[in-house]
Amino acid sequence: MADYDVQADVAVIGAGAAGVAAALEAGGAGATIALVEQADTLGGTAAISGGGCCLVGTPLQDSKGIHDTPELAFEDWVKCGQGEADEQWARYYIDHSLHDLYFWAEKLGARWVELQEMEGNSVPRWHRPANNGLGLMTAFINAMKSQGKTRVLVGSTADRLLLDNGRVCGVRSVDAKTGQPTEVHSKTVVVASGGFNSNLELVLEARPELKGFRVMEGSGPGAIGLGHRLLRELGGYFTHMENISFYVYATPDYRDPEAKRGLVFRGTPGYIWVNQQGRRFHDESRNGAPSATPALLRQNPPHAWAIVDAAMTGNMQVADPYYRDGDKIRRDKVQELLDQSPYIRKADTLRELAQKIEVDVPVFLEEVEAYNKAFDAGLKREPRFGKPLGPCNKFDTPPYRAIQLFPLARKNLGGVKTDMRCRVLNAHFEPIPGLYAAGELAGMAGGHINGKAGLEGTMMGPSLFSGRVAGGWAAHEAGFGPGFIGKTAPAGW
Ligand SMILES: Cc1cc2nc3c(=O)[nH]c(=O)nc-3n(C[C@H](O)[C@H](O)[C@H](O)COP(=O)(O)OP(=O)(O)OC[C@H]3O[C@@H](n4cnc5c(N)ncnc54)[C@H](O)[C@@H]3O)c2cc1C
Repeated sequence: MADYDVQADVAVIGAGAAGVAAALEAGGAGATIALVEQADTLGGTAAISGGGCCLVGTPLQDSKGIHDTPELAFEDWVKCGQGEADEQWARYYIDHSLHDLYFWAEKLGARWVELQEMEGNSVPRWHRPANNGLGLMTAFINAMKSQGKTRVLVGSTADRLLLDNGRVCGVRSVDAKTGQPTEVHSKTVVVASGGFNSNLELVLEARPELKGFRVMEGSGPGAIGLGHRLLRELGGYFTHMENISFYVYATPDYRDPEAKRGLVFRGTPGYIWVNQQGRRFHDESRNGAPSATPALLRQNPPHAWAIVDAAMTGNMQVADPYYRDGDKIRRDKVQELLDQSPYIRKADTLRELAQKIEVDVPVFLEEVEAYNKAFDAGLKREPRFGKPLGPCNKFDTPPYRAIQLFPLARKNLGGVKTDMRCRVLNAHFEPIPGLYAAGELAGMAGGHINGKAGLEGTMMGPSLFSGRVAGGWAAHEAGFGPGFIGKTAPAGW
C-alpha cells in the first residue's frame, strides 16, 4: 500500500443523502469508514433539495388531525407507480418510515416543521424539515462527524472499483486539483453517487424519443452518472432507466452559459399554461410528475408558456440556492429573473404578449377570457379542466408575463437493481461480492421503488433509508453489527 492510500472497513462513494446515512449506520455498528466525495463540500443534491420526505403515521400528522396508515400509503404509492413500483421495497420503506426516518432524523438533530399534500396522496404526507435539505443534511453530517468513525476525502472522484478475486475490495479516487490517485482498501463498498439528471447525454440515452427537443438538466451538480459507469463496468444490472421524473414548471437558467440547466419555480397558483398553439392543455393545479409531465410531453413541440400577471408573481419561489437565503426567498433575485431572463417575455396587454411568444393570438385570448369568465361567474372551478380557483385570481393586473417552460429532468426513478440488503445484483440477479448501492443510483432503493412516478418525498426518504440499509449490511459483511434491523410500526397500527 502506498503512503497516500487509506484503509477502512467500509468505503462509501458519495456524500449525499444515501452516502451519509450509510456512513452513520456503518459507524454505529462499529466499522471504520472512508467516505469519498468528488465535490469540495458534503451534502450532494440532498443539501440543495427541498428535503421533503414522504412519512407515514407521524406525530406531525397526528397534531393536524390526519390519520394515516401504512396500508393507505402503500395503496397510493403503488397506484402512482402505475404497475412499476417495487412493492417489496415500497412496503419495507413505508413500514419503517416512522421509526427509522422520522424519529431517527429527530434524534440526530433534524426537525420536521411542515406538512403538505402532494398529488396522488390521500392525505398530506410530505414532511419538510427545518431549513429544507440543507437543514436535514447538516444534522446528519454533524452527527457523522461526532461519531468519529468516518474519514472524509473531499474533492476526490472515485473512478475505479478495486477487485480481488472477483470481490470488490475498495475504490480508487483521484484528487480533482492535484490529479493524485488514492486507493481506499476496504472489506465492502457502498456506492451512493446519486442520479444522472445533470448529464443531458445520459438523459437522452434513457429517453431517445426526446432527442431533437429542448430538455433541461435539473439535478445537483454531482448527478452526472459516474457511479452508474462504475457499476456497469462490474456487470451491475440496471432497470427502469426510462423512468425519469420530469418537472413541467421549469424555465432555462439564463445565468448558465450553456443554458442547459433549468430553474423550477412555484408559488404562482393563478398561472395558466399554454402550448405553442396558444391553448391550455391541463389543470395547472395538478402539477406533479404523474399527470402534468405526460400532458406536457403530449404537446407538439413538448414545451409551454406559463402566463402570469403582476399580482401572480408576488409569492413566486425559485428552487435554487441563488434565489434563497436559507428558508427565506430572495425577492430581489426572483425579480431579477423575471426582468432579465430572455426566456421570460413581458407585455402591457395580453394581445401584445401573445404576439411576443408567437402563439395563435385569437386562440390565446379566447383561453384567457374563458378563464377570467369563470371568476366573474363566481365558479369554484374553471370549466375547461376543473382547476380549483380558490387560491387564484383573474388576469387583470399588467404587466403580463410569459415564462417559457421545457421538461426538466429532476429525479431518476430507475437504477441499479439490488436485493433487500442493497447488495448490487448482476444480470442473473446474483449479488456482486462486496458491492452495495443505495439512493438515486439505485432508483432511490432496490432499483425502482417508485415505478413510473413518485408521490413526492419518495426520493429523499427512500435514499436515506436505503443508505441506512446498505451501511448496516456492508458493515455486517465487514464483520460489524447484525445488519440493518430497524423498527417497524407496531402490529395493528
Ligand atoms: C432542487 C432539488 C430539490 C429536490 N427536492 C426533493 C424533495 O423535497 N424531496 C425528495 O424526496 N427529493 C427531492 N429531490 C431529489 C433528492 O434530492 C435526491 O433524489 C437525493 O438527494 C438522492 O440522494 P443520493 O444520496 O442518492 O444522491 P445525492 O444527494 O446527489 O448525493 C450523491 C453524491 O455523490 C457524489 N458523487 C457522484 N459521483 C461521485 C464519484 N464518482 N466520486 C465521488 N463522489 C461522487 C456527488 O457529488 C454527490 O455529493 C430534489 C432534487 C433537486 C435537484
